[in-house]
Amino acid sequence: MKIDLNSFERELKIEATLEPEEIDLGVENARLDHAILFKGAVRKDTDAVVLSGTLAGQVNIDCDRCLASRAVPIEITADREFVADERMAAKAEHELGPDDLNMDLLRGDELDLTEFAREEILLALPQQFFCKEDCKGLCEKCGADLNLKDCECSNEEIDPRWAALKNLN
Ligand SMILES: [Zn+2]
Ligand SMILES: [Zn+2]
Repeated sequence: MKIDLNSFERELKIEATLEPEEIDLGVENARLDHAILFKGAVRKDTDAVVLSGTLAGQVNIDCDRCLASRAVPIEITADREFVADERMAAKAEHELGPDDLNMDLLRGDELDLTEFAREEILLALPQQFFCKEDCKGLCEKCGADLNLKDCECSNEEIDPRWAALKNLN
């Protein structure tokens, strides 16, 4: 969804529904199957356009251990400054701080709200995700989900210490 910067004078309040098909997260372990709601505003400042608001919805994330997908609610409050090219370069040179991370290039007369949502959701994804704290994961040998059943594989494994003793005989 694009916001036309010529369509308003100084500030535009936005309430938008971003459909899951619009937002391709581009990662293997997470995807959307519900709409993301954006509530916020875009404001023209003297030297930047500021987009701010809250993204709410849910993301389906695969468990790192057993690969089962879980719906995780998200609520992200974010803001970003869009500036023209030269100014951004000058500013980055003079004041490299954490604030600069929230800065982006202004491209033409519109802002891409969908792309903003995509990037903010990606940033909010956890580094590690487990469906539950004690998820047992999948058996490395047979691929069975060890949360659902115990496979026979573990019984066949020979403890390396015993294996060493065996070699002594
Ligand atoms: Zn799991
Ligand atoms: Zn197994």
